[in-house]
Amino acid sequence: MTDAPSTATVGKHPCPECGGDLQWNAAAQSLRCPYCGTIVPWTPAQAADPGAGVVELDLAAALADPAVDRGWGSDRREVQCQSCHAISVFVDGKVAKRCEFCGSPAIIPHESQQDAITPQSLLPFRISDGQVRDLIRTWYGSHFFAPNKLKTAALTDTLSGIYLPYWTFDSHVHATWTAEAGHYYYETEHYTDSKGQRRTRQVRHTRWVPAAGELEHFFDDELVPGTTGVHADLLRVVEPFPTTSDLKPYAHEFVRGWTVERYQVDLRRAAETNMAQMQDQVRALCAAQVPGDTQRNLVVDASYRGRTFKHILVPLWLVSYTYGSRRFQVIANGYTGKVAGEWPVSWVKVFFAGVVALLLAAIVVYVVLQSQ
Ligand SMILES: [Zn+2]
Ligand SMILES: [Zn+2]
Repeated sequence: MTDAPSTATVGKHPCPECGGDLQWNAAAQSLRCPYCGTIVPWTPAQAADPGAGVVELDLAAALADPAVDRGWGSDRREVQCQSCHAISVFVDGKVAKRCEFCGSPAIIPHESQQDAITPQSLLPFRISDGQVRDLIRTWYGSHFFAPNKLKTAALTDTLSGIYLPYWTFDSHVHATWTAEAGHYYYETEHYTDSKGQRRTRQVRHTRWVPAAGELEHFFDDELVPGTTGVHADLLRVVEPFPTTSDLKPYAHEFVRGWTVERYQVDLRRAAETNMAQMQDQVRALCAAQVPGDTQRNLVVDASYRGRTFKHILVPLWLVSYTYGSRRFQVIANGYTGKVAGEWPVSWVKVFFAGVVALLLAAIVVYVVLQSQ
């Protein structure tokens, strides 16, 4: 991997005081020099016209010819973790010594692929590292049985700010459906109970009536994660990322000094996931239109048109720590501050809590016996 001289300075933004490369700062919501601390107000190129530059790309065309490489150019290094296989991208000289997803030191250079689709837009960090430490401390406080090691890990420098790859998809859908709508009705039945008494009861029956309808729907910015480094069940907890309104066109300034994860769920696989999600939703929307009290034999015929996509980056704070032989992750949405985490139960704490509970019970019994 060599730096082409013409692109090596792309997006470089020198500090007016010391010449260091400025970086996006979440607390200042502006550029800040990591060397001398100077804060420089900065407006991204298209900021005057929100939404401009955040372009939806045609899905069919991209699947036919994925050779779109724009955005971060050739001034980047990619490394892959030999342990968890996450690929990290660095757009400046900095390269981490360990994998930020699992802590493994076994990272090797990864050849950047020329057909890789580069991010067109991103959601900049809004939660600063100071804020996220407070949020994680509060979260930790509500998990009494988590081990102290988690607290130490969460509050020291194992906290990393990472831009995660996501795909977002738009599509129009037109669907027609047929089904049988069931209407309940009740009839009075006479029967003899176990004691030989004649009784009556109401029995429910269903009258089935053919039904049909159609549906028009627009899917806007349906998200599919492209990450493999962060555990999927955790991500679902800290979603959503407000990608419809607050997305900014990609600029190196946002990304320099932060880690970027390279997607490993490629466009084709992500588009398939998106299609399956849309089909589920369309079926649910059609089912909701069927009249009556119950339904059966729903058949949906849907056609999707104008499918577009974007490849975007979203901000995430990550703490990765080892406990016993396992790795655990605690994450926070870098835009909304929502926290989710995995934590092993500390059996030491559980044991002592049990001992304390037994002692309290013994004291209560003793006091009750004494007072009699
Ligand atoms: Zn400076
Ligand atoms: Zn790793």
